[in-house]
Formats: sequence, C-alpha cells, structure tokens
Amino acid sequence: MAAATLGEVPTKAFDTILTLDFGSQYTHLITRRLRELNILSEMLPCTTKIADLDYKPKGVILSGGPYSVYEDGAPHVDPAVFELGVPILGICYGMQEIAWRASPENVIAGVHREYGHSNLKALKGDDAHVDRLFAGLEDSMRVWMSHGDKLGALPEGFHTVAVSDNSEYAAIAHKTKPIYGLQFHPEVTHSQNGTQLLKNFAVDICGCAQNWTMARFLDQEIARIRDLVGPEGQVLGAVSGGVDSTVAAKLMKEAIGDRFWAVLVNNGVMRLDECEQVERDLKQHLGINLTVIDASKDFLEGLKGLHDPEQKRKFIGGKFIDVFEAEAQKIEEAAEKSGKGTKIGFFLQGTLYPDVIESLSFKGPSATIKTHHNVGGLPERMTNGQGLQLIEPLRSLYKDEVRELGRTLGIHEELVMRHPFPGPGIAVRILGEVTEEKVRIGRQADHIFISEIRKAGLYDQISQAYAAVDPSRAVGVMGDKRVYGYIIILRAVTTTDFMTAEAFNFPWEFLQRVMNRIVNEVHGVSRVTYDITSKPPGTIELE
Ligand code: GLN
Repeated sequence: MAAATLGEVPTKAFDTILTLDFGSQYTHLITRRLRELNILSEMLPCTTKIADLDYKPKGVILSGGPYSVYEDGAPHVDPAVFELGVPILGICYGMQEIAWRASPENVIAGVHREYGHSNLKALKGDDAHVDRLFAGLEDSMRVWMSHGDKLGALPEGFHTVAVSDNSEYAAIAHKTKPIYGLQFHPEVTHSQNGTQLLKNFAVDICGCAQNWTMARFLDQEIARIRDLVGPEGQVLGAVSGGVDSTVAAKLMKEAIGDRFWAVLVNNGVMRLDECEQVERDLKQHLGINLTVIDASKDFLEGLKGLHDPEQKRKFIGGKFIDVFEAEAQKIEEAAEKSGKGTKIGFFLQGTLYPDVIESLSFKGPSATIKTHHNVGGLPERMTNGQGLQLIEPLRSLYKDEVRELGRTLGIHEELVMRHPFPGPGIAVRILGEVTEEKVRIGRQADHIFISEIRKAGLYDQISQAYAAVDPSRAVGVMGDKRVYGYIIILRAVTTTDFMTAEAFNFPWEFLQRVMNRIVNEVHGVSRVTYDITSKPPGTIELE
C-alpha cells in the first residue's frame, strides 16, 4: 500500500496542506490548527515519497523533530518536495532541513539550548512575500522555541525575515521562491499570533480555500460510502452509545439507510438505564436499524472471581467478541433474507485520525510504519477471515470534528458532548471483583454524581467524570446505627488530549451535596471521597 493512501484523508475533494512529520510532539497541532481554520491538512511521515502521493498539495509544511539534521541516520525529506512548485514552510527541524539541504555547514549545534518564550522581531518592509507571511501581525511578538541546533549561516538565496533574542535566524525566506523557515513553533498556543501566521501561509501564500467544513465533508463522505458499498451492499457495525460509534452509525444510516445493521451488546456493566437510553437514541431518535443483545448475565457470571484489572479487561474484551461474532452470524442471515440487499460485505469501525496519526508518525529511521487497518477494533478474523471489508468514515477526523459532524447530522447536543466511557464499562470502576451488588452501588452513585454535575452546569467543563466503588469497607453511623459500607471514590478530570489531566476543582458545597445524596440514597455506602490525583502519575480510570 502506498504511504500516501494510508491516511485516506479526502485530499482530492479539498485543498490540502501536506504536513510532513519529523517526529515532533507538536506535529499534530499543525494539522489541528489548520483544520480549525477550515483548511484540510494531512499528516504523513517525513519519509513519504512524493511520487506516491495521489494528489498535489497546495503547500507543504515540514515539522519539527527530535533529531539533529547533521547526525547520522537523521531523517531527510524527499528532495522532490522542492520540485512540486508549491510553497514550503519549515518549522524548527523543518527549517534546519531546508538549510542543511542547501549546504550541511548551514546547521550547527547551538551553545545554548533555547526552550520556552522568546521575543520575535519581524523585519518587515523590504520584501513583498515576507510581508505576506507576517501580514496583520505586530512587528514584535512572543513565540515559543524548543531547539538546541541553529542555523550558522543562511542558505543561498535566502534572507533573514525575523530575529529573536537568541536567534539571528528566527525566520528566513527565500528571496524569490515561496519557501520559508521558522525557528519557533507557530502551532503551539504559547506562540502569539501563531494561528494567524499559519493562516497567512495556507490561505494567502498557498491559496487554499477555507472550505473544510463538516457539512461539506458529510456530502462527500456519503457519496464515497455509497460508491464503496454499492447499491446492494450491506454493512454491519457495533455501537456503544459513545460519540464516535453513534456518529459513524448515523452517517451510515444517511448513506445507505437500513442496509446498515447496528448491534449493541449489553454487557451488564453499562451505566444506570444506559442500554435503554442508547436504544431510544439510536432507534427512535436517529432511526438506525439497531439490534440489542442482552448478554449481561453471561458477562456478570464470567466476571465472578476475577480480581485483577487486566484479567477483567481481557475477559470483557474477549467475551464481547464471542457474543458479537455469534450475533453477527444471525444478523448476516437476517440481512440476507431481508431483501434489502446482498449479503453483508462490510464492517464499520469508528477509528479516528489520532489513531491513524499514531501509526503514521515518524518514530525513527529504523521504525517500521505500521499499516493501521484495524485500529482498536475487532480481531482480524472478523474482517480477513470472514471477508468483511472495513469501512472507517471517521478515519480522517479529530474528535472535535466528529462532534461537529454529529451536530451536522442532527444528533442532539447532550449525546454529541458525551464524555468518553471505557469499553469495559463500570467493571473498571469497581476495584477488584465485580458483583451484582457493587454494580448496583456503582451505578446509583455514578448517576447521582453525573446528574448533579449536569444540574450545576459543569458537565461541559469536565472531560471525564465518574463514581467508582472501593470494595474495602469503612465504618459509619447512620440513624444511631453502626453501618459498615463501601467507599465511593468520585473522580472528575479536565484534559485536552487525555495524555495529561488535572482533577476538576469543584466548589466545596457541590462535593458536600453529592456526598450527602450518595450516603443517603445509595444503600451500602458509608463514605465518599474525591480523588485529586493528576495524570501523571495517576490514570483517568482507576484500573
Ligand atoms: N532537534 C532539533 C534541535 O534541537 C530540532 C528541534 C525541533 O524541531 N523542535 O534544534
């Protein structure tokens, strides 16, 4: 498979900026910033061969990276990128790469590493295309730097267009061609006006139309799905009630109607009334052809005696596949007999772009780039073995784009903004062995906590929240009587990327109110605690 087709980003339908990744932790921010500007950007590894691209980007950005361009084994861009005849912007390593290509002596190890804020001064006025890059920006701005190497000399044909306290060559531009280099990172929010600078590059210099909207994406994706599936083809998919699977399912419904078959497995560890709620949302509200399988007894039975988190997760994952596979067979038979189309030939998966990027990002010269055709989904035997072809309509979208697409599809706001929920459900929110009693307690406590959060208008300020059950018990007194009950652990975090997180700072009265309700309303609980651990060192879930 050619590298260029891996991302399956709709580069033919939208003007696209190609971002070549040299392994910087910030690379995905470049594509995100551009998409926030309604410009499609695709990220591919820096080793991508330009000849493998099946489209012509409107411009190319070379990202930062951890290597030194002059060291052995450092990654280098396909020189054909300079023959594309489109504007190029190098950021940090990307700029050093541009300079190194002109002559290796141009890049040297700096005496001081420069990390953090720096004051940038743009040298405007003497050059028309410099003015275009810095148009609308102040002459002086705070930018974010993170580098040890620097340019020792200008590559031939270039001149300096901005300086900083520590960098003589904080920004450079070719005198006649639209090739630019920045020592700083405009993609991080710490860089003042960084987004404006990226916009100047993409819109004014590359000429991209700002037409990357979810309404347009929807139109082209529906057409693509219809084309792929054909007039008779049928598709099967698992749904959980989460944002991604719901949006993917509704999209399929719009594209092929009841030839899409959704399956919801009740694993016995969903939240209070969740299965019924999801069924109502998907069937009644969204009109999706849904089958619900109640396997809760099997799951709860199998969870008996399992204390170890990994064992619990493995059991639930494995059982889910068994149940799903058995049902899939029945649904396939039903689909075949239904007269709606031919037999099921496709399997829907809600893979998102960050998973694709993860598999595509440049990990070093020796790392093989994985082909990510079944990210976090069902086992290969379901697709390869049964000959089902994968269909992944969200594969080119970030989470906020999926939410926007959901709104465009008419999915209500409460569902679109739903917090993520783990596949193994509240089983990983009950420490140790899962029993029916603990499931009941966990569900009720969680329901109280989340309803109070909604009532207080805090839901959208929090990224994820839940109540967990600690099976060790504590003594309490209620109505003069000794009680010996479980401990509830409340957890609520804020995060932008789920890689790091902070505990949410609730008003004291709020926590008291929740505590009060839980000890009063949930039988078998004697204490309520609030987990203030950040990530790291904690994780968001407890198991
Ligand atoms: N590794 C290079 C340096 O230290 C580039 C760093 C970067 O791209 N952020 O200068």
